[in-house]
Amino acid sequence: MNIILFGAPGSGKGTQAEAISDRKLIPAISTGNIIRDALKSGSEVGLQLKGYMASGGLVPDEFVIEIIKGRIAEDDCKNGFILDGFPRTIPQAEALDRMGVRIDKVIEIDVSDAIIIDRMSGRRVCETCGSSYHLENKRPHEDGICDKCHGTLVQREDDHPDTVRNRLRIYHEQTKPLEEYYRQQGKLTVINGDGKSIDETIGLVLSALEA
Ligand code: AMP
Repeated sequence: MNIILFGAPGSGKGTQAEAISDRKLIPAISTGNIIRDALKSGSEVGLQLKGYMASGGLVPDEFVIEIIKGRIAEDDCKNGFILDGFPRTIPQAEALDRMGVRIDKVIEIDVSDAIIIDRMSGRRVCETCGSSYHLENKRPHEDGICDKCHGTLVQREDDHPDTVRNRLRIYHEQTKPLEEYYRQQGKLTVINGDGKSIDETIGLVLSALEA
């Protein structure tokens, strides 16, 4: 099954994607994580992308489209995949359609801006493997340490409040139109994540995939 998961930054889509990946045994592909890895490598492309990411802006469509094209052609995507954070613009969605990639379901995690701003300030990510935690809602077993790989947990530069507000503005302008795009294709399920625990939302996402 080929799945797209989208939602505002801080909607919990990364955590949902990991949960679906564990349950369905298909890879979760996060363009954000792939780009962060490129940044860490210190390459020239990485340096160019750093500016876009630090301000909360999107990186150019051509760049992420090439990343996805290569990644979904890999062997582990044969039985399906979950796209987490791609597409994020209508031109990216159109590029995916042009590639002839069949998408079975599109899940939107809908969370209000006020809740997102609150959540993002508590988010911590592993600087080694990218796993996501929260100071209140999803604490690691040991403070500041990743449960999965024992890496150090840090606050992402783009999770600072001003940057979050900018990312939300960009989300409403550029990503939210995907809702209508996929509704017209008959693939969209919207899940309201307001006031729900991570586990409750994961349950709803999994039921939507079985439906
Ligand atoms: P994320 O981890 O999904 O929140 O992504 C972090 C950042 O990576 C975003 O704020 C963008 O700068 C960049 N990024 C990730 N995915 C995309 C995409 N599909 N299109 C453009 N920029 C992206």
